Amino acid sequence: MKVAVYPGSFDPVTYGHLDIIQRASEMFDKVIVAVMCNSAKTPLFTLDERVKMLKESIGNLNNVEIKSFDGLLIDYCKDQGIHIIVRGLRAITDFEYELQIAQVNRELSHNQVDTVFLTTNIKYSYLSSSVVKEIASYNGDITPCVPKNVEDALYQKYGLR
Ligand code: ADP
Repeated sequence: MKVAVYPGSFDPVTYGHLDIIQRASEMFDKVIVAVMCNSAKTPLFTLDERVKMLKESIGNLNNVEIKSFDGLLIDYCKDQGIHIIVRGLRAITDFEYELQIAQVNRELSHNQVDTVFLTTNIKYSYLSSSVVKEIASYNGDITPCVPKNVEDALYQKYGLR
């Protein structure tokens, strides 16, 4: 069975992430969306909130599971017997960082874990969690960027609803 892990901060999940999840779910037997809690970034949403929003947003993709993890991704892969990491690529700026992380992960896993990159759906190429948070914080319209549950949670976080 081909199992892939799609790791990220998902702070919060956007349509860009959901597009990658949907496409990965068609490529692999099972996709584990792994929400990282050890991100260097200070998240707006708690780990539980990020997991909950993802669970509410993925709809009925039966082969997708939402999990959280702490520590090194490569250790998580080893624990779970996973050999494939999925990451999304938006622009050339993502590439340099992603290439480095992918090489490190392959090296650390002694060639046991490889990374598969899915290029962004062009209509979401401008989308990032940071951009969405910025727009929401000024009470801007984020309906094209995130599902309703995430939109509500964002405005609530910023005390706007
Ligand atoms: P991280 O903090 O690990 O960068 P993110 O939650 O920001 O995590 O993103 C997780 C993954 O999803 C990354 O591989 C990122 O490049 C990808 N991603 C984020 N937004 C988009 C998008 N709009 N289109 C395609 N991939 C995306």
